Amino acid sequence: MQLAKNTKKGPVLMDNLVDIHNHCNLSSDSAATPEDMAKAAFDLGVSHFALTDHIELDEFHDGEWDYWAAIEKTRPAFEKLKAEYDGKMHIYYGAEIGQPMYNLHTAEEILAAHDYDFVLGSVHRTCHYEHMGKIPDNEFDRKRVMIEYWEDMLNLVEWGKFCSLAHITFLLRFTNVDTPAGLVIEKTERAQAAYDTYKTIIDKILEIIVKKDIALEVNSSGYRRGLGGPMASAPFIKRYKELGGKLITVGSDAHQTSDVAKDINKCYALLRDLGFNEICVFKKKEPKFIKI
Ligand SMILES: [Zn+2]
Ligand SMILES: [Zn+2]
Repeated sequence: MQLAKNTKKGPVLMDNLVDIHNHCNLSSDSAATPEDMAKAAFDLGVSHFALTDHIELDEFHDGEWDYWAAIEKTRPAFEKLKAEYDGKMHIYYGAEIGQPMYNLHTAEEILAAHDYDFVLGSVHRTCHYEHMGKIPDNEFDRKRVMIEYWEDMLNLVEWGKFCSLAHITFLLRFTNVDTPAGLVIEKTERAQAAYDTYKTIIDKILEIIVKKDIALEVNSSGYRRGLGGPMASAPFIKRYKELGGKLITVGSDAHQTSDVAKDINKCYALLRDLGFNEICVFKKKEPKFIKI
């Protein structure tokens, strides 16, 4: 592991520590201020940092969270952090776009009006299952949500107006996989089972992101959620590489300061084992490579 010179304040661990998937109180599910999240990153020795607050396109009209107000506060928050950490930590203007296919008009409008450096594309819900955490645990619902999820993701990458495909195995946090041989029980085995069972559509998704130069995100929160590895999980990262994929982004998906940069080093170790020696960050939506 590469050790950086301790030129910064705080316990510097590495000079290539990257965390470009974080949330603050400009997302409805975080109470942390932008300043606190950035400070936590800086104190841990993060060199490249982004807040990527949620823009959940299917929720724009339910009135529970004022997305427009939050989006308009994101740019000033970014500018403030950029000035504060100038020369000390790279900061990117980011967003996480969820379910754009359910409100394409608004998604396109937001992207046209905001000059993001880095945009994550996500599927957090499908049309029949608003809360992945509440999928009824029976074979019919497990299979239906699994199919809907991959189909939504295929639509998402076919649209493709984002930089990195976020946590491709997100669904496996919440639901098990019914394989032809029966139900796979172990949470840590779900990724391989899902890949083997839904290979045709998953390969199509991966082929499209390779072709479109969309990165695959390796999201370290999978470790915190009991998946035994990041999201994307190893079988997906391996397949992405086999198909010619070279663009990997990493992020902790922290919604609180104590999760910032958590397990990013584990992601690096896994990525190196799988043959990746660099990851990337995005500036004005263009990838820049960083050795790991
Ligand atoms: Zn997400
Ligand atoms: Zn997120």
